[in-house]
Amino acid sequence: MALAENLNLIRQKIATACGRAGRDANSVTLLAVTKGQPPEVVNEAARLGLTLFGENKVQEAKAKIPLCSGKLHWQMIGHLQSNKCRDAVELFSMIQGVDSLALAQEISKRAALAGKTLPILLEVNAVGEASKFGYRPEQLLVELAQINALPRIEVHGLMTVPPWSAEAENVRPVFQQMRELKERCEQILGTPLPHLSMGMSGDFEVAIEEGATMVRIGTALFGPRIKAGQDQ
Ligand SMILES: *Cc1c(COP(=O)(O)O)cnc(C)c1O
Repeated sequence: MALAENLNLIRQKIATACGRAGRDANSVTLLAVTKGQPPEVVNEAARLGLTLFGENKVQEAKAKIPLCSGKLHWQMIGHLQSNKCRDAVELFSMIQGVDSLALAQEISKRAALAGKTLPILLEVNAVGEASKFGYRPEQLLVELAQINALPRIEVHGLMTVPPWSAEAENVRPVFQQMRELKERCEQILGTPLPHLSMGMSGDFEVAIEEGATMVRIGTALFGPRIKAGQDQ
């Protein structure tokens, strides 16, 4: 399997992009996106030392996670429906993709019932694409303090899926906008936010140059996805 080679190459690219930005290579976390991939692929990745995985569908994650071995951490990276919050709170160590106060309230409620406190990232639809989930930046700033005040969630930062582009350089302004938005959120909350989750297979190096602390990579690691229904 080409996975070991892909992983080495991605790690090198992450380190090089960090170098260009004057950042420590350890300041970027690699989240391996395993949606559309079978448990064997996860297990192979785990043997190579990966421990952090992302899924975008609760149902798929629920079936897959019990079949994966090792001490792994899973994060929800897609849109979450409120009727899936109970499962999500059990399965995931962080929920990326919270995009409304109602959803945050439901997660907090379900986390309380499970005796947990759950870190979340707020999803931003930076340029207002109709096909995408996520907060418009103005609305996020309005609801941020209320979300942060919920008892059983902790806001750890922002995530975004930028508009698709064949040329990563075209997406740079969106990543810059996200970094500025994170700074505004930090001012409002009066505390630093550890995470800016942005950058996927085609654009992670640019995202790192603009301040990503977590890159979510699927196809560049694992190749094309096997199952359908993988897209956000
Ligand atoms: C699928 C997906 C990714 C990974 O995309 P690749 O282009 O395969 O690296 C990252 N983030 C989210 C939210 C996704 O749904």
